[in-house]
This record gives sequence, C-alpha cells and structure tokens, in this order.
Amino acid sequence: MKTDFHMHSCHSDGVLTGVELLNLARERSIQQISITDHDSLAVYDELRDQMPIDIQLLPGCEFSSLWRSMCVHIVGLNLNLQSASLQNALIIQARARVTRSESIAAILEKKGFSGALERVQEIAGNAVIGRPHFAEFLVEEGYVKDRKQAFKKYLGAGKPGDVKAQWRSLEEVCQWILEAGGVPVLAHPLKYGLTQTKLKTLLVEFKDAGGQAIEVISGAQDAGRTAQAAHLAEQFGFHGSLGSDFHQPGQSWADLGFIPELPQNCHPVWELWS
Ligand code: AMP
Ligand code: MN
Ligand code: MN
Ligand code: MN
Repeated sequence: MKTDFHMHSCHSDGVLTGVELLNLARERSIQQISITDHDSLAVYDELRDQMPIDIQLLPGCEFSSLWRSMCVHIVGLNLNLQSASLQNALIIQARARVTRSESIAAILEKKGFSGALERVQEIAGNAVIGRPHFAEFLVEEGYVKDRKQAFKKYLGAGKPGDVKAQWRSLEEVCQWILEAGGVPVLAHPLKYGLTQTKLKTLLVEFKDAGGQAIEVISGAQDAGRTAQAAHLAEQFGFHGSLGSDFHQPGQSWADLGFIPELPQNCHPVWELWS
C-alpha cells in the first residue's frame, strides 16, 4: 500500500492547498496520507466538506517540541479533530509561534535587518509563521542569496534566529496527541545531527514520554539509513512510520509519495489504529 504520512500544505510552510495535495496524491496512486502542517490543523478546515473517499486521509499535525535545548518534531497521526486537549494545544502553539516571530524579528532588527515582522506577516498570510517565511524575507531583501544561506547564517539550529524556548516538552506534546486518540511519532530521527549516544537518549526519553513510533523513512533516503532507522525502531520498541516531508514540487529531499517502502521487519504505524 502506497503511504505518505508527512507533508505540508500552504497552511504552514508548504505551497499547495489541501485540495491540491489530495489531487497530487491521487495522481501518484498514494492510498493513505496524512497532511501534517507545523502546529496547525487549518488544512482540515479547508477540507471539511471535501474529505476524499478514494484516499484514506488521516488527520495529522507536526508539533514543535523542546528537548534538551533543541527543537524536535513530533508528528501526531490519526488525531480526533474534536478533541478539547488538541484544540487547547493548537492555541498554545499558535501563541508560541507569534511570540517567537516577534523574538526572531527583534534579533534580526539588531543585526540591521529591519521591518522583518511586518513583511513576514504579509508573506505568511493566513499560514502559521515559520522560519521559512523569515528566510524568504532575508532573500527578498538581498541579505542572503537563497533560503539555504538564510538558515545557514541566521535561522538554522544554533544560529541567532533559532528561537525555541517557547516549545513544550516531549511529555506535554505526546500527552496532547494521546488525549486526541492519536499516535505520537518522532519525525525524521536521523536528521537532528545527533551522535548515536544522544539519539538513543532521545529515543528512550521519547518512549518514556508516551511516544509510539518513529519515522523509519523520511524522504528519499538510501537503504543504509533505512536499515539504521529500522534497527533503532526494533531496538527501542517503536512502530515505523514513513513520509516524504513534502513542502513543494521540486524540493531536493523527496517528492510526494516518492519514498521507499517500510522494511519487512518493521511494524507499520497503522497497526496501532487498524
Ligand atoms: P519552524 O517550524 O518555523 O521552526 O521552521 C522549520 C522549517 O524550516 C522546517 O520544517 C523546514 O521546512 C525549514 N527548514 C529547516 N531547516 C532548513 C534549511 N537548512 N534549509 C531550508 N529550510 C529549512
Ligand atoms: Mn517545514
Ligand atoms: Mn520536521
Ligand atoms: Mn515536516
């Protein structure tokens, strides 16, 4: 079964609408998907009256969380959209994104890049504000040559614009997801740049916090990484999820649905709800 459980719409930092994502998934014969915007479920409002019948669409969301002074992402899958706990979580995250955007703008202002907040709000429009919108501002103003450089110099992990103190703990984020009947999945575990020791500590603590699965496949990765992630899932007792982390056509790491299958020795995450 062709599956993609990690992608973004224009309601966060992706470019396609929910309807466009569904059409693309249909074109690519993907049978089950989850649209997992950053800290937002607005795409499910967009799709409220047009939930597909030919594709299984599971409500999902990629939550930002704070672990040992770094930001890690936890995807919640198969969420009950009516959950009061989930509604409350989204308010908390939305507020955190607003205060964070003010902090990032103030930091950029001090560096002589003025007017960031106003412009970023325009760029984001109705979407939740994220660092990619700041990257676009820096490119637009000619302060950097492209988005990649914007992250490398100003916004990426450990750089001045990487403001993360506002994010909630692994326990709290997993709790929101569990209370909404969902499955907490650690997103892209091999992409945090952690040493083996630190990664294993993260997995232990994620499990203790209520985590149930990890992304064994994240984007168009090679067989070595898949084997490594599958081994970690087995070792720490996690189910495996998979997703492209698609944001826009032409992105470098993976196109929608163009990802490897879960290895045979991996328990697919959907066993947890089907
Ligand atoms: P935020 O959710 O606001 O913290 O922004 C994180 C998002 O920024 C990620 O989901 C990516 O879409 C994007 N991002 C992170 N690092 C980079 C990078 N080095 N180059 C381009 N985009 C990035
Ligand atoms: Mn993103
Ligand atoms: Mn992520
Ligand atoms: Mn993502």
